[in-house]
Amino acid sequence: METKYETEFFAMGTVINQKVYGKNSEFAGIQVENEIKRIENIMSFFLEDSDINKLNENAGKSKIKLEEETIYVINKAKQLSKLSLGAFDITTGPLVKLWGVFTNHAKVPNKKEIDEAQKLIRYEDIIIDVKSNLAMLRRKGQMVDLGAIAKGYAADKAIEIYKKNGIKSAFINIGGNVMVLGKKNHEDLWTIGIQNPDKVRGECIGALLLEDASVVTSGGYVRYFEKNNIKYHHIMDFRTGYPCSSGLKSVTAISNKSIEADALSTAIFVLGYENGIKLVDNIDGLEAIFITENDEIKITEGLKDKFVLFECV
Ligand code: AMP
Ligand code: MG
Repeated sequence: METKYETEFFAMGTVINQKVYGKNSEFAGIQVENEIKRIENIMSFFLEDSDINKLNENAGKSKIKLEEETIYVINKAKQLSKLSLGAFDITTGPLVKLWGVFTNHAKVPNKKEIDEAQKLIRYEDIIIDVKSNLAMLRRKGQMVDLGAIAKGYAADKAIEIYKKNGIKSAFINIGGNVMVLGKKNHEDLWTIGIQNPDKVRGECIGALLLEDASVVTSGGYVRYFEKNNIKYHHIMDFRTGYPCSSGLKSVTAISNKSIEADALSTAIFVLGYENGIKLVDNIDGLEAIFITENDEIKITEGLKDKFVLFECV
Protein backbone atom coordinates (compact mmCIF):
# COMPACT_ATOMS: atom_id res chain seq x y z
CA MET A 1 0.00 0.00 0.00
CA GLU A 2 1.11 3.55 -0.68
CA THR A 3 2.60 5.64 2.11
CA LYS A 4 0.23 8.04 3.80
CA TYR A 5 1.19 10.74 6.28
CA GLU A 6 -1.57 12.20 8.42
CA THR A 7 -1.18 14.83 11.16
CA GLU A 8 -3.09 17.29 13.24
CA PHE A 9 -1.45 20.32 14.83
CA PHE A 10 -2.31 23.75 16.15
CA ALA A 11 -1.20 26.99 14.48
CA MET A 12 -2.69 30.28 13.27
CA GLY A 13 -5.18 30.10 16.13
CA THR A 14 -6.79 26.93 14.81
CA VAL A 15 -6.52 23.17 14.35
CA ILE A 16 -4.82 22.06 11.14
CA ASN A 17 -5.17 18.60 9.56
CA GLN A 18 -3.28 17.25 6.60
CA LYS A 19 -3.30 13.96 4.70
CA VAL A 20 -0.44 13.44 2.31
CA TYR A 21 -0.05 10.42 0.00
CA GLY A 22 2.98 8.94 -1.71
CA LYS A 23 6.75 8.77 -1.41
CA ASN A 24 8.15 11.77 0.53
CA SER A 25 4.76 12.31 2.19
CA GLU A 26 6.18 12.49 5.71
CA PHE A 27 9.00 14.80 4.68
CA ALA A 28 6.61 17.11 2.81
CA GLY A 29 4.08 17.07 5.66
CA ILE A 30 6.70 18.11 8.21
CA GLN A 31 7.88 20.90 5.91
CA VAL A 32 4.31 22.13 5.57
CA GLU A 33 3.84 22.19 9.35
CA ASN A 34 7.02 24.25 9.76
CA GLU A 35 6.02 26.56 6.92
CA ILE A 36 2.61 27.32 8.40
CA LYS A 37 4.17 28.13 11.79
CA ARG A 38 6.67 30.39 10.02
CA ILE A 39 3.85 32.21 8.19
CA GLU A 40 2.00 32.65 11.48
CA ASN A 41 5.10 34.23 13.05
CA ILE A 42 5.25 36.79 10.25
CA MET A 43 1.57 37.51 9.67
CA SER A 44 -0.08 37.20 13.08
CA PHE A 45 -2.06 40.15 14.45
CA PHE A 46 -1.23 39.03 17.99
CA LEU A 47 2.49 38.15 18.03
CA GLU A 48 4.74 41.03 19.03
CA ASP A 49 7.52 40.32 16.53
CA SER A 50 5.28 39.76 13.52
CA ASP A 51 5.50 41.97 10.43
CA ILE A 52 1.86 42.93 10.98
CA ASN A 53 2.44 44.06 14.53
CA LYS A 54 5.43 46.15 13.40
CA LEU A 55 3.34 47.69 10.64
CA ASN A 56 0.54 48.52 13.10
CA GLU A 57 2.88 49.92 15.75
CA ASN A 58 4.37 52.27 13.17
CA ALA A 59 1.05 53.48 11.77
CA GLY A 60 1.23 57.18 10.94
CA LYS A 61 4.94 57.24 11.82
CA SER A 62 7.34 55.63 9.41
CA LYS A 63 7.75 53.16 6.58
CA ILE A 64 9.09 49.82 7.70
CA LYS A 65 10.71 46.91 5.89
CA LEU A 66 8.55 43.79 5.62
CA GLU A 67 9.12 40.29 4.24
CA GLU A 68 8.49 40.09 0.52
CA GLU A 69 5.63 37.64 1.12
CA THR A 70 3.90 39.97 3.60
CA ILE A 71 4.02 42.64 0.92
CA TYR A 72 2.58 40.10 -1.56
CA VAL A 73 -0.34 39.22 0.75
CA ILE A 74 -1.08 42.88 1.55
CA ASN A 75 -1.00 43.80 -2.12
CA LYS A 76 -3.30 40.93 -3.02
CA ALA A 77 -5.60 41.97 -0.16
CA LYS A 78 -5.75 45.51 -1.53
CA GLN A 79 -6.76 44.22 -4.98
CA LEU A 80 -9.48 42.04 -3.48
CA SER A 81 -10.70 44.94 -1.30
CA LYS A 82 -11.13 47.02 -4.41
CA LEU A 83 -12.94 44.21 -6.23
CA SER A 84 -15.31 43.73 -3.29
CA LEU A 85 -15.90 47.48 -2.90
CA GLY A 86 -14.38 47.41 0.57
CA ALA A 87 -16.54 44.57 1.95
CA PHE A 88 -13.28 42.71 2.51
CA ASP A 89 -10.75 45.15 3.96
CA ILE A 90 -7.69 44.19 6.01
CA THR A 91 -7.72 47.62 7.69
CA THR A 92 -10.86 46.51 9.57
CA GLY A 93 -8.35 45.78 12.40
CA PRO A 94 -9.42 48.61 14.80
CA LEU A 95 -13.04 47.45 14.61
CA VAL A 96 -12.13 43.79 15.13
CA LYS A 97 -10.03 44.79 18.14
CA LEU A 98 -12.75 47.02 19.56
CA TRP A 99 -15.38 44.26 19.50
CA GLY A 100 -12.83 41.73 20.77
CA VAL A 101 -14.89 38.80 19.50
CA PHE A 102 -12.02 36.36 20.06
CA THR A 103 -11.07 37.61 23.48
CA ASN A 104 -12.40 37.21 27.01
CA HIS A 105 -13.27 40.92 27.01
CA ALA A 106 -15.69 40.89 24.07
CA LYS A 107 -18.21 43.74 24.27
CA VAL A 108 -20.76 45.72 22.32
CA PRO A 109 -18.97 49.07 21.85
CA ASN A 110 -20.76 52.43 22.14
CA LYS A 111 -21.53 54.62 19.13
CA LYS A 112 -18.58 56.97 19.67
CA GLU A 113 -16.11 54.08 19.81
CA ILE A 114 -17.59 52.57 16.65
CA ASP A 115 -17.50 55.91 14.81
CA GLU A 116 -13.84 56.35 15.66
CA ALA A 117 -12.85 52.83 14.59
CA GLN A 118 -14.87 53.14 11.37
CA LYS A 119 -12.96 56.28 10.36
CA LEU A 120 -9.73 54.31 10.42
CA ILE A 121 -10.88 51.68 7.93
CA ARG A 122 -9.52 52.46 4.49
CA TYR A 123 -7.46 49.97 2.51
CA GLU A 124 -6.14 52.77 0.26
CA ASP A 125 -4.23 54.03 3.31
CA ILE A 126 -1.80 51.11 3.17
CA ILE A 127 1.18 52.60 1.39
CA ILE A 128 3.40 50.01 -0.28
CA ASP A 129 6.73 50.33 -1.97
CA VAL A 130 7.00 46.97 -3.73
CA LYS A 131 10.56 47.41 -5.00
CA SER A 132 12.01 47.95 -1.55
CA ASN A 133 9.40 45.95 0.45
CA LEU A 134 8.55 48.99 2.54
CA ALA A 135 5.08 49.63 3.88
CA MET A 136 3.24 52.03 6.13
CA LEU A 137 -0.25 52.77 7.34
CA ARG A 138 -1.01 56.40 6.63
CA ARG A 139 -2.73 57.34 9.91
CA LYS A 140 -2.05 56.69 13.59
CA GLY A 141 -4.40 54.07 15.04
CA GLN A 142 -4.88 52.22 11.76
CA MET A 143 -4.34 48.46 11.93
CA VAL A 144 -3.99 45.66 9.44
CA ASP A 145 -5.45 42.25 10.34
CA LEU A 146 -4.83 39.39 7.91
CA GLY A 147 -7.28 37.07 9.72
CA ALA A 148 -9.51 36.75 6.66
CA ILE A 149 -6.76 35.96 4.12
CA ALA A 150 -3.61 34.52 5.76
CA LYS A 151 -4.98 30.97 6.09
CA GLY A 152 -5.68 30.98 2.37
CA TYR A 153 -2.14 32.12 1.67
CA ALA A 154 -0.82 29.35 3.95
CA ALA A 155 -2.93 26.72 2.14
CA ASP A 156 -1.52 27.83 -1.23
CA LYS A 157 2.01 27.55 0.20
CA ALA A 158 1.26 24.06 1.51
CA ILE A 159 0.21 22.91 -1.97
CA GLU A 160 3.39 24.43 -3.41
CA ILE A 161 5.48 22.42 -0.95
CA TYR A 162 3.62 19.17 -1.70
CA LYS A 163 4.21 19.69 -5.41
CA LYS A 164 7.90 20.49 -4.94
CA ASN A 165 8.27 17.15 -3.18
CA GLY A 166 6.64 15.25 -6.01
CA ILE A 167 3.38 14.70 -4.08
CA LYS A 168 0.34 14.27 -6.33
CA SER A 169 -2.37 13.71 -3.75
CA ALA A 170 -2.90 15.70 -0.54
CA PHE A 171 -5.51 17.37 1.64
CA ILE A 172 -5.08 20.22 4.10
CA ASN A 173 -7.65 21.85 6.36
CA ILE A 174 -6.53 25.04 8.11
CA GLY A 175 -9.46 25.69 10.43
CA GLY A 176 -12.14 25.30 7.76
CA ASN A 177 -9.95 26.59 4.98
CA VAL A 178 -9.65 23.42 2.88
CA MET A 179 -7.41 22.76 -0.09
CA VAL A 180 -6.89 19.53 -2.02
CA LEU A 181 -4.19 18.48 -4.44
CA GLY A 182 -5.03 15.96 -7.17
CA LYS A 183 -7.40 13.12 -6.30
CA LYS A 184 -7.82 11.27 -3.02
CA ASN A 185 -5.22 8.53 -2.97
CA HIS A 186 -4.85 9.24 -6.73
CA GLU A 187 -8.22 7.62 -7.49
CA ASP A 188 -11.38 9.33 -6.27
CA LEU A 189 -12.51 12.91 -6.07
CA TRP A 190 -12.18 14.39 -2.61
CA THR A 191 -15.41 14.74 -0.64
CA ILE A 192 -15.50 18.08 1.17
CA GLY A 193 -18.41 18.49 3.56
CA ILE A 194 -20.26 21.82 3.80
CA GLN A 195 -21.07 22.56 7.43
CA ASN A 196 -24.70 22.95 8.49
CA PRO A 197 -24.55 26.41 10.16
CA ASP A 198 -27.17 25.41 12.75
CA LYS A 199 -25.67 22.09 13.79
CA VAL A 200 -22.60 20.93 15.67
CA ARG A 201 -19.30 20.97 13.82
CA GLY A 202 -19.07 18.08 11.39
CA GLU A 203 -22.79 17.90 10.58
CA CYS A 204 -23.07 18.83 6.93
CA ILE A 205 -25.83 19.99 4.60
CA GLY A 206 -24.04 18.51 1.62
CA ALA A 207 -20.66 17.91 0.08
CA LEU A 208 -18.51 18.95 -2.83
CA LEU A 209 -16.70 16.39 -4.96
CA LEU A 210 -13.53 18.01 -6.23
CA GLU A 211 -9.89 17.76 -7.22
CA ASP A 212 -7.25 20.53 -7.21
CA ALA A 213 -9.37 23.14 -5.48
CA SER A 214 -9.75 25.22 -2.38
CA VAL A 215 -13.01 25.41 -0.44
CA VAL A 216 -13.37 28.13 2.19
CA THR A 217 -16.40 28.95 4.32
CA SER A 218 -17.17 32.19 6.16
CA GLY A 219 -20.10 32.29 8.53
CA GLY A 220 -21.56 33.96 11.55
CA TYR A 221 -21.74 30.67 13.45
CA VAL A 222 -17.98 30.14 13.56
CA ARG A 223 -16.89 32.62 16.20
CA TYR A 224 -19.24 34.80 18.20
CA PHE A 225 -20.24 35.99 21.67
CA GLU A 226 -23.70 36.49 23.12
CA LYS A 227 -25.09 39.51 24.95
CA ASN A 228 -28.75 39.88 25.98
CA ASN A 229 -29.63 36.91 23.77
CA ILE A 230 -28.12 38.52 20.68
CA LYS A 231 -25.24 36.81 18.90
CA TYR A 232 -22.38 39.00 17.69
CA HIS A 233 -20.01 37.29 15.26
CA HIS A 234 -16.51 38.10 14.02
CA ILE A 235 -17.02 39.42 10.47
CA MET A 236 -17.44 43.18 10.38
CA ASP A 237 -19.34 45.46 8.05
CA PHE A 238 -17.34 48.69 7.52
CA ARG A 239 -20.58 50.54 6.69
CA THR A 240 -22.28 49.93 10.06
CA GLY A 241 -19.32 49.15 12.29
CA TYR A 242 -21.27 46.09 13.46
CA PRO A 243 -20.94 42.40 12.64
CA CYS A 244 -22.48 42.14 9.18
CA SER A 245 -26.03 41.01 8.74
CA SER A 246 -26.57 40.43 5.07
CA GLY A 247 -29.20 37.70 5.11
CA LEU A 248 -26.73 34.83 4.98
CA LYS A 249 -25.80 32.13 7.47
CA SER A 250 -22.71 31.17 5.52
CA VAL A 251 -20.88 31.46 2.24
CA THR A 252 -18.50 28.92 0.77
CA ALA A 253 -16.10 30.10 -1.92
CA ILE A 254 -14.42 27.64 -4.28
CA SER A 255 -11.35 28.56 -6.31
CA ASN A 256 -8.04 27.04 -7.31
CA LYS A 257 -6.34 29.81 -5.33
CA SER A 258 -6.98 29.54 -1.62
CA ILE A 259 -5.88 33.13 -0.97
CA GLU A 260 -8.78 34.30 -3.18
CA ALA A 261 -11.30 31.82 -1.80
CA ASP A 262 -10.44 32.96 1.73
CA ALA A 263 -10.66 36.71 1.15
CA LEU A 264 -13.70 36.43 -1.09
CA SER A 265 -15.75 34.15 1.17
CA THR A 266 -15.39 36.88 3.79
CA ALA A 267 -16.26 39.58 1.26
CA ILE A 268 -19.35 37.77 -0.03
CA PHE A 269 -20.56 37.10 3.51
CA VAL A 270 -20.52 40.87 4.08
CA LEU A 271 -22.09 41.67 0.69
CA GLY A 272 -25.00 39.22 0.89
CA TYR A 273 -26.48 37.14 -1.94
CA GLU A 274 -27.48 39.80 -4.49
CA ASN A 275 -24.20 41.70 -4.50
CA GLY A 276 -22.16 38.61 -3.68
CA ILE A 277 -23.30 36.72 -6.77
CA LYS A 278 -22.32 39.71 -8.94
CA LEU A 279 -18.82 39.53 -7.50
CA VAL A 280 -18.63 35.76 -8.09
CA ASP A 281 -19.79 36.15 -11.72
CA ASN A 282 -17.06 38.75 -12.25
CA ILE A 283 -14.19 36.54 -11.20
CA ASP A 284 -12.92 33.72 -13.40
CA GLY A 285 -12.89 30.30 -11.80
CA LEU A 286 -14.73 31.40 -8.66
CA GLU A 287 -17.82 29.44 -7.53
CA ALA A 288 -19.92 29.74 -4.38
CA ILE A 289 -22.51 28.14 -2.12
CA PHE A 290 -24.83 30.47 -0.20
CA ILE A 291 -26.89 29.40 2.80
CA THR A 292 -29.47 32.09 3.51
CA GLU A 293 -31.16 33.06 6.78
CA ASN A 294 -34.26 31.28 5.41
CA ASP A 295 -32.26 28.09 4.96
CA GLU A 296 -32.24 28.29 1.19
CA ILE A 297 -29.16 26.78 -0.39
CA LYS A 298 -28.03 28.47 -3.60
CA ILE A 299 -25.13 27.27 -5.70
CA THR A 300 -23.46 28.74 -8.76
CA GLU A 301 -23.73 27.11 -12.19
CA GLY A 302 -20.23 25.64 -12.15
CA LEU A 303 -21.03 23.50 -9.08
CA LYS A 304 -24.11 21.75 -10.52
CA ASP A 305 -22.25 18.46 -11.11
CA LYS A 306 -19.99 18.80 -8.09
CA PHE A 307 -22.36 19.44 -5.18
CA VAL A 308 -24.42 16.75 -3.48
CA LEU A 309 -27.17 17.86 -1.13
CA PHE A 310 -27.75 15.50 1.80
CA GLU A 311 -31.27 14.36 2.68
CA CYS A 312 -32.64 16.17 5.71
CA VAL A 313 -34.51 14.06 8.26
P1 AMP B 1 -12.89 34.69 7.79
O1 AMP B 1 -13.10 33.69 8.88
O2 AMP B 1 -11.90 34.28 6.76
O3 AMP B 1 -14.16 35.13 7.17
O4 AMP B 1 -12.20 35.96 8.45
C1 AMP B 1 -12.71 36.61 9.56
C2 AMP B 1 -11.60 37.33 10.28
O5 AMP B 1 -11.11 38.40 9.47
C3 AMP B 1 -12.09 37.99 11.56
O6 AMP B 1 -11.86 37.16 12.66
C4 AMP B 1 -11.25 39.27 11.62
O7 AMP B 1 -9.97 38.99 12.15
C5 AMP B 1 -11.08 39.64 10.17
N1 AMP B 1 -12.19 40.44 9.61
C6 AMP B 1 -13.41 40.71 10.14
N2 AMP B 1 -14.18 41.43 9.30
C7 AMP B 1 -13.42 41.62 8.18
C8 AMP B 1 -13.64 42.29 6.94
N3 AMP B 1 -14.80 42.88 6.65
N4 AMP B 1 -12.63 42.29 6.04
C9 AMP B 1 -11.45 41.71 6.30
N5 AMP B 1 -11.18 41.07 7.44
C10 AMP B 1 -12.15 41.00 8.38
MG1 MG C 1 -11.67 34.65 4.76
